[in-house]
Amino acid sequence: LVRFERVNKWFGTQHVLRDIDLAIQPGERVVLCGPSGSGKSTLLRCVNRLESFEEGRLTVDGVVFEPGRRDAEGALRALRRRIGMVFQQFNLFPHLTVLENLALGPELAGEPRAQVRERALAQLERVRVAEQASKYPLQLSGGQQQRVAIARALVQAPRLLLFDEPTSALDPEMVQEVLDVMRALAEQGQAMLCVTHEMGFARAVADRVVFMDEGQIVEAAPAARFFEAPRRSRTRAFLQRVL
Ligand code: ATP
Ligand code: MG
Repeated sequence: LVRFERVNKWFGTQHVLRDIDLAIQPGERVVLCGPSGSGKSTLLRCVNRLESFEEGRLTVDGVVFEPGRRDAEGALRALRRRIGMVFQQFNLFPHLTVLENLALGPELAGEPRAQVRERALAQLERVRVAEQASKYPLQLSGGQQQRVAIARALVQAPRLLLFDEPTSALDPEMVQEVLDVMRALAEQGQAMLCVTHEMGFARAVADRVVFMDEGQIVEAAPAARFFEAPRRSRTRAFLQRVL
C-alpha cells in the first residue's frame, strides 16, 4: 500500500529523514513512535504529499512519487481521497456543523447531496457521535471533536488512515474514547499509520511498531517483539522513558 525506498529529506541544512525504507501492507496497522523532533510527522506528511522529499522514491497505492517530478493534479486529488488524515488539533471547520464538515469533501467532488448525507451519518454512527450531527464543533467536547475528525476521514472510505498524535491534545478523561474508536476501526481491518505515545494502544492494536530517532528508522518489529525484546539500545532507552 505504501513503500518508502531510501527516502531522504532536508529542511534547509537539517537532514530530517535519513534513508527511510518502510513498507505498509493493505490492512496493516503500524504505530510510529520516537522522541520529539525525530521526524515522525514529517514522514507521515510525506505519505499524502503534504511534504515533499529530495531523494529516494515513495509509492502510495500504486502511484510513484520521485523528487523533481511535478505531481499530476488529478493523481494528487485521488491520492488524498484514498489516504485519510487525522491531526492532533482536529482541524474541523468551526463555521460548519458536524454533518457539513463531513459532507464538504464528497460534495466538492460532485457527489449528490442526499447520498453524501447518508454516508456521513453512517460514519458518525460508527464513531458514536451521530446525535451531534447538527451541532458546531466548538459545542462538542475534545473527544467528540476528534471522533468527528475521524468520521470525516472515514467518509471517503480511505485505503489508509494517517493519525498524528490524535489523543495528545485531549483531556485525559477523553483519551480512551478516541483510542476505543481507533481500536474498533483497526479490528474492522482499516489500515493505519499512527504516530502516538500511547504505548498500551500500540501493544494492543499494532501489527508493527516503528521507532524513529534523529530522522532514522532505528527499529521496526511486530508489537510483541518490539516491547518484549527490543534489539537496539536506543529503543530500550526510549521504552524505559515512556513505559
Ligand atoms: P514531535 O513529537 O514533537 O511532533 P516529530 O517527530 O513529529 O516531533 P517533526 O515534526 O517531523 O518531528 O520534525 C522533525 C524535524 O524537522 C524537527 O527538528 C523540526 O524542527 C523540523 N521541522 C519540521 N517541520 C519543519 C518546517 N516546516 N520547516 C523547518 N523545519 C521543520
Ligand atoms: Mg510530530
